[in-house]
Formats: sequence, C-alpha cells, structure tokens
Amino acid sequence: MQHDTEKTHKRPKWVKSGEEELCPECFKAVGDKNRYKLICLLGKAKGGLNVSALTKQLKLTQPTVTHHLNILREVNAVDHETRGREHIYRLNRSAHCFEDCQIPYN
Ligand SMILES: [Zn+2]
Repeated sequence: MQHDTEKTHKRPKWVKSGEEELCPECFKAVGDKNRYKLICLLGKAKGGLNVSALTKQLKLTQPTVTHHLNILREVNAVDHETRGREHIYRLNRSAHCFEDCQIPYN
C-alpha cells in the first residue's frame, strides 16, 4: 500500500521521541493524547487487550475507547481479532506509523 509520506504535522508533545514531523496518517494515530496512551498500552501487552481492559486502564468510557480504536484501525495501527464474544486488539508493530515515522510506544 502506498502512503503519502509527506510530513506536515509537528509531533505532539506527549510523544517523547521519533521524527519531528509526522505524516497526516501518523498524526491521526497519535494526535490525540488518549489514542497515544492506547498505543502505549497495546505496545506493552504482547497478547493484546480487550476493550474492557483498555477502558479500565485508561479510565475512559467504553464508547470513547471504541471510537479511538476505530480510528487506530483506520490507519492500520492496530489489529483486531474476535475470540468468542471478546474483541482483542493488538498493536500492528509493522505499521507505517511505527516503522517510517518512528513513533515510539513504551
Ligand atoms: Zn507516518
């Protein structure tokens, strides 16, 4: 998949390192602080996390977490898997955001 790699957005201050300028796609992923926290949580959880675990850790409502997860899915930053009734989310470590724009997660 071809990406528009023109870097036009300043890296947000809550993202501590990485490229100074981000492409629009990466900015969409981390331009919101809660979405960046979501990326960090998923980055630590090797086996993935479900929505209720993410909701608890972020202290946000479930619809808010789902909304942010959908945006992360749009830019391919997370993978999604259904296990029975559970929806498990995992960080897509080979996503453009993490490889090209060097967005860290810790
Ligand atoms: Zn990018």
